Amino acid sequence: MSAPWDYDLVVVGSGPAGEKGAAQAAYFGKKVALVERAPHLGGAGINTGTLPSKTLRETALYFSGLRQRGLYGIDYSLKEGLTVAEFMHRKDIVIENERDLIEANLARHGVEVIHGTAALRDAHTVAVSGADDRQRILTAAVILIATGSSPHHPPQIPFDDQAIYDSDSILLMQRIPKTMAIVGGGVIGSEYACVFTALGAQVTLVDTRERLLPFVDAELA
Ligand SMILES: Cc1cc2nc3c(=O)[nH]c(=O)nc-3n(C[C@H](O)[C@H](O)[C@H](O)COP(=O)(O)OP(=O)(O)OC[C@H]3O[C@@H](n4cnc5c(N)ncnc54)[C@H](O)[C@@H]3O)c2cc1C
Repeated sequence: MSAPWDYDLVVVGSGPAGEKGAAQAAYFGKKVALVERAPHLGGAGINTGTLPSKTLRETALYFSGLRQRGLYGIDYSLKEGLTVAEFMHRKDIVIENERDLIEANLARHGVEVIHGTAALRDAHTVAVSGADDRQRILTAAVILIATGSSPHHPPQIPFDDQAIYDSDSILLMQRIPKTMAIVGGGVIGSEYACVFTALGAQVTLVDTRERLLPFVDAELA
């Protein structure tokens, strides 16, 4: 008798959750497909979140010489004429490498990667719309929804990606600003505040709470 489903597992989203879920199931012999709507695999972890922000932090520290300030006590203003392209260069290389690793990991485990936007038809059916508007129907015993999250856009803030960015579009910024206001003192806001301060920008961090990062020790915050 043939199996009632096309796959044992269909995963929607290729961020850290989707990638690991797909690879783990395939490792245990399951037939797995993974659907991703973005042009690149890796989700926020690789493309807009964890990895780019950490790489930018390291790049900012390097270009500003911040780590040597205490040692030599000389002026470590930003390298003259540093362009955004230079500043972002290292991030792009690191992202490329990580994307290749994810692709290789999924291929090694025999996970079928399908590019397109997934929508649930029912508890066992996923419809995938591709760039060519053709739809593909996948059925599975189990569906893992690992679609992550995206930056919140409060209606009173007119995002334009020219002067007002969110934590994704900041990576596409065309110039390094002299002054910057960051709204939100959580991990992402605090992290970018450190990055742009290291780059010499005058940063104002705005938050409604009494203190930053309430989940860490007060002294650290
Ligand atoms: C600036 C920043 C810094 C961060 N730093 C850290 C850190 O230091 N440490 C840490 O642990 N976390 C950090 N994070 C958080 C971390 O990036 C996320 O928690 C993590 O990426 C979530 O993984 P995920 O797999 O759940 O979702 P995501 O990584 O968001 O992946 C979801 C994927 O699903 C895809 N998708 C969505 N809808 C569909 C659909 N309908 N069809 C097909 N595909 C779809 C998306 O395109 C995306 O690729 C940071 C985040 C940001 C923004």
